[in-house]
Amino acid sequence: APKKIAFIGLGNMGGGMALNQSKAGRDVAAFDLSEAALKRAGEGGCRPVGSVVEAIKDAEVVITMLPAGPHVLKVYSEQIIGAAPTSALLLDCSTIDVETARKVAAMAKDAGYAFADAPVSGGTAAADAGTLAFMVGCDEADFLRIEQALEPMSRATIRAGDHGAGQAAKICNNMLLGISMIGVAETIGLAERLGLDPERFFEIASKSSGQCWSITSYYPWPGPVPTAPVNRGFTGGFATAMMLKDLKLAQDAAAKAGATTPMGANAEALYALFDRLGHGGRDFSAIVQMLRGKLDD
Ligand code: NAD
Repeated sequence: APKKIAFIGLGNMGGGMALNQSKAGRDVAAFDLSEAALKRAGEGGCRPVGSVVEAIKDAEVVITMLPAGPHVLKVYSEQIIGAAPTSALLLDCSTIDVETARKVAAMAKDAGYAFADAPVSGGTAAADAGTLAFMVGCDEADFLRIEQALEPMSRATIRAGDHGAGQAAKICNNMLLGISMIGVAETIGLAERLGLDPERFFEIASKSSGQCWSITSYYPWPGPVPTAPVNRGFTGGFATAMMLKDLKLAQDAAAKAGATTPMGANAEALYALFDRLGHGGRDFSAIVQMLRGKLDD
């Protein structure tokens, strides 16, 4: 297993992930533009440094967890590729567009590095607990090394395919999740109008052909799934603004690839509206209130 990790991007997700690398006994040189994030990483056992270049100079593995595609392209093209030892494994765990992921992978490969797009499923709680699921796009020969590098942060690491396939898997999964949540939400609205108790409908649907994760693990009606965000005022969980970001990535990718995704397009439009109405910070399952016509609840 690697001993020297460089970790760039210590935000809501990266902060916890870097600490888990450190808890596994690895030396973690950590960098973020935010002083507060750097300080937290230092207190948790990482070694805060003053720049990307300093973090990566003798790294065996470089991990990035940055906001979006432009940040990833800039940091890799200007600060990592050519500056890190060519023996270093480069892993980008951010959620970004497939095109940028492939561009960075090609640049890294040309310069002699092993690179993977390795976006995650699971929110900040899973990042803190070291129980994220990683979807990896990489050369097959590099996968074992990648799995070892991610191990302290992971509950499951799955190779999706070649470069870009990790990001493709992430946006396909989240597009389906957005669509299924809206389906469940408008169905709850219909049940209610028909005088069918949504709590009783849960018992039926969770054992019938309408069954899906948005019902069994996240049902947005108080009661049936105690851990669902509806039972804590739609706080925590997966923010609407984040779901919207992923739905936009899916629509951009679909347009470029010539895929027909009308339900994904509708999901994006509905989440954009819900966000525009000021609900971007609420868990994405709160869209049930808009579809029930009860936005103030
Ligand atoms: P965040 O905004 O909390 O963290 C990003 C960090 O990157 C910030 O601390 C920022 O200062 C830092 N940063 C930006 N540019 C930098 C640079 N040039 N050099 C060094 N540091 C820089 O975001 P997050 O919630 O941690 O999410 C990170 C990524 O993970 C995103 O792509 C997001 O879509 C994805 N993701 C998030 C969640 C979630 O629940 N939060 C779940 C799955 C995936």
